[in-house]
Amino acid sequence: MRKKQFKAESKKLLDMMINSIYTHKEIFLRELISNASDAIDKLYFKSLTDDSVNLSRDDFKIEIELDKDARTLTLSDNGIGMTEEELENNLGTIAKSGSLNFKKENAESENADDISVIGQFGVGFYSSFMVADKVEVVTKAFGEDTAHKWVSEGADGYIITECEKDEAGTTITLHIKEDDENEQYSQYLEDYMVNELVKKYSDYIRYPIQMEMSHQVPDPDKEGEYITEITTDTLNSMVPLWKKSKSEITAEEYNEFYKDKFNDYSDPLAVIHTKTEGQATFDALMYIPENAPYDYYSKEYEKGLQLYSNGIMIMDKCGDLLPDYFSFVKGLVDSADLSLNISRETLQQDHQVRIIAKAIDKKIKSELTKMLKNDREKYEKFFKTFGVQLKYGVYSNYGAEKDGLKDLLLFASSADEKPVTLKEYVGRMADSQNDIYYACGESAEKVALLPQAEAIKEKEFEVLYFTDEVDEFAIQMLMEYDGKHFVNICKDDLDLSTDAEKEAIDKKNEEQKDLLEKMKNALDGEVTAVKFSNKLGSHPVSLSSEGYVSLEMEKVLKSVPGGDQGVKAQLVLEINSNHPLAEKLGNADDELIAVYTKLLYNSARLIAGLDIANPTEFSDEIAKLMA
Ligand code: ADP
Repeated sequence: MRKKQFKAESKKLLDMMINSIYTHKEIFLRELISNASDAIDKLYFKSLTDDSVNLSRDDFKIEIELDKDARTLTLSDNGIGMTEEELENNLGTIAKSGSLNFKKENAESENADDISVIGQFGVGFYSSFMVADKVEVVTKAFGEDTAHKWVSEGADGYIITECEKDEAGTTITLHIKEDDENEQYSQYLEDYMVNELVKKYSDYIRYPIQMEMSHQVPDPDKEGEYITEITTDTLNSMVPLWKKSKSEITAEEYNEFYKDKFNDYSDPLAVIHTKTEGQATFDALMYIPENAPYDYYSKEYEKGLQLYSNGIMIMDKCGDLLPDYFSFVKGLVDSADLSLNISRETLQQDHQVRIIAKAIDKKIKSELTKMLKNDREKYEKFFKTFGVQLKYGVYSNYGAEKDGLKDLLLFASSADEKPVTLKEYVGRMADSQNDIYYACGESAEKVALLPQAEAIKEKEFEVLYFTDEVDEFAIQMLMEYDGKHFVNICKDDLDLSTDAEKEAIDKKNEEQKDLLEKMKNALDGEVTAVKFSNKLGSHPVSLSSEGYVSLEMEKVLKSVPGGDQGVKAQLVLEINSNHPLAEKLGNADDELIAVYTKLLYNSARLIAGLDIANPTEFSDEIAKLMA
């Protein structure tokens, strides 16, 4: 019999798990119980439509057996079990490849990172190795004749053999490690301890978790003395957490439930527990994670809430219950109004599901609004992680959802270290200000350095800094807020001047028409116009754009694969009319004008964060002027 190796990366992780400094080793039990419960769910669900399952609801259970002498903890379920192939796939690889790549760097770093790494994977079955030096899994898949045994003593591999087992289900035996100076592993062989752990982490599991418990009871024969009585007890209350009333649930219970169910190591940022009656009657227990799940921005990520019909899970990830802009929300919905044999196909048409989805959308929005109002710090943290999702929400579907989301947006601003809402911005606009000003760039620091920002600052107008790619697109969709239009300070038509100033600059442009024409020609179609400007503060030159497409939008569209379909910003090269350079240009000969124009244009491109066609030539020309 050949020992099989874990997949290479799994081995590394498993090593880490075994030698983990993870302080919550006790969670191994909740992980195993959770798996057992899932396996029973599957078989129970099957039993509803398949007569070959000869078990009724009350027959399903999870059993725990402790043997102090043999130092074993055994956990059995009569769930769906695993075929040989499933054993191989489920217990031979720790994590699906995508997630692994993401975390590999961390996995190789310091021990201190162990916790977060383990957490990222959902601790799962392998957490057994935190307390056991040998793990045996005997399992028989429902409908199969043969059973299989999987044995492993840790990272060096596992062996699968055929074996005997009467009923479908899985039995997992942990050979508990010897105590050492850091950890009393023996505690996991004590019935009171295991009882406590079940109550702490797995109370809501809907199938009975049974174990033999010893109790001290008064001796009926001898007054004042006690004898030991052994009974088989059900350790858990079996009431699903979401069915309990809110006042009965502690924050810790909410959090533990979340971590167990949704494989997160960190406590959630917010819990939303709602019981709704009316058009649709349902309980929902939802969570906003503190961190984005490791695969959140990958194609593999699937949004959705678990869907229960009266306590029975009918779908693991029901995407129709969540709009895309709330795809980060984890949780479940339980409604008695749903039919058990609802399928992904019929779901979308399901009237009830649609009503529930609407109510959930509203509920999440109102919770976020509350958080924004009452706990700004928390909201900012939330927004930093998931805010971009809300902005996409404003933009997508041609802005269909924008009104519900616009007051949840935050933007960096020139006026404040902290991000601001649109409402706050409009609320403190200067009397002389008609529009909402914004500027785009890679970071707030970079935007603040734009030549155009200086002039606006002089007027003491606040500027919103758009640093996410989606920002400007979202705002175009919004069009206005509270009757105020959004104006890009890098757009050519931004106008802050007085009538007199305007007249002066128009005049200058008219007078210097020839010069400007020569400059434009020198740039050979790169720009649609060259102009003198009075809004550049002390800076000599800048690029702005005409028309709908801004510089930032062009950049974003170019970066999308297949997005560069000739969408181009129409560029205007602006020369500061108050800069000494303006006069110098007026006196230069044609050849020098061409050289200067190219240099100015390329500098303006660099300021705008665009690349330049020939950096070497650019540098050569500057050096030539210097020499
Ligand atoms: P997770 O539960 O997060 O998927 P685990 O490592 O805990 O990760 O388990 C891996 C897989 O092994 C499960 O998804 C399930 O398919 C299978 N499995 C684990 N325990 C059992 C069990 N008691 N009965 C049937 N299948 C199980």
